[in-house]
Amino acid sequence: MDFAVLTIFPEMFIPFWENGIIKRAIERKYISASAINIRDFTSDRHHSTDDRPYGGGSGMVMKPEPLYEAVLAAREKIPDAKTILMTPQGRPFKQNTAHALSKERGLIFLCGRYEGVDERICQNCIDYEISIGDYVLTGGELAVMVIIDAITRLIPGTLGGQDSAEKDSFSTGFLEHAHYTRPRVFKDEAVPDVLLSGNHKEIEKWRLETSLIRTFLKRPDLLKNRCLSQSEKQILKNWCSEIENIIQTQSVSCFDTLSGCQ
Ligand code: SAM
Repeated sequence: MDFAVLTIFPEMFIPFWENGIIKRAIERKYISASAINIRDFTSDRHHSTDDRPYGGGSGMVMKPEPLYEAVLAAREKIPDAKTILMTPQGRPFKQNTAHALSKERGLIFLCGRYEGVDERICQNCIDYEISIGDYVLTGGELAVMVIIDAITRLIPGTLGGQDSAEKDSFSTGFLEHAHYTRPRVFKDEAVPDVLLSGNHKEIEKWRLETSLIRTFLKRPDLLKNRCLSQSEKQILKNWCSEIENIIQTQSVSCFDTLSGCQ
């Protein structure tokens, strides 16, 4: 996968390319990544990339000419790439968006600044508009890093073991199960016995259970949007009946206590 980022702050990407999984993915040639300075495509002596908005109002708008030339230059480097505009008005970025984009040959990202980019660029040069959330950043650079990071870890080989990305939260439609490591007891709290049992079938069952239950507790919206298998439904039903039992036992024992008081 080839990534090119069009930005007026290319230096922001240096530490990003030079650390962790991204660095290793570049070294091992799973990805290539470059930050292209939009200022290099200006023609005035001040290298201006923004101008006042037509119609008045506060803030500046990114000029179309340097953006257009920068997109053409990036497309020359990565001919089959899709061009993505970072904007809070775009489609919300989700794990399934990351999966879909990880199948592309290349991606060119356009980072806005100020009030955003001239509308004619949005209309004529952009394949997708993406937002990383319902809040407004000062520029698209951090948003691009989020997206490149999420896509890169889905490219086979980048994580070392493909397993880790396939079982991540959202990839299965649920939140991932709980994790434990050494020590076996920490602050009086022990690791669940099943994880020490060596019984892989039971461990998988426990993981599915914790995954479903924490999804129900933390993100019930995810369960509503996913088709559950029979065994997944059974886990939730068992959990419900355990809760019912607790409630029933409670009402009986509370009734006993109350009558004892009379
Ligand atoms: N005036 C714009 C609006 O209200 O839609 C916001 C412009 S914002 C200050 C400057 C740039 O930051 C945007 O052009 C975009 O590239 C980037 N940006 C801000 N918030 C973002 C978000 N939630 N997702 C993706 N990009 C964002």
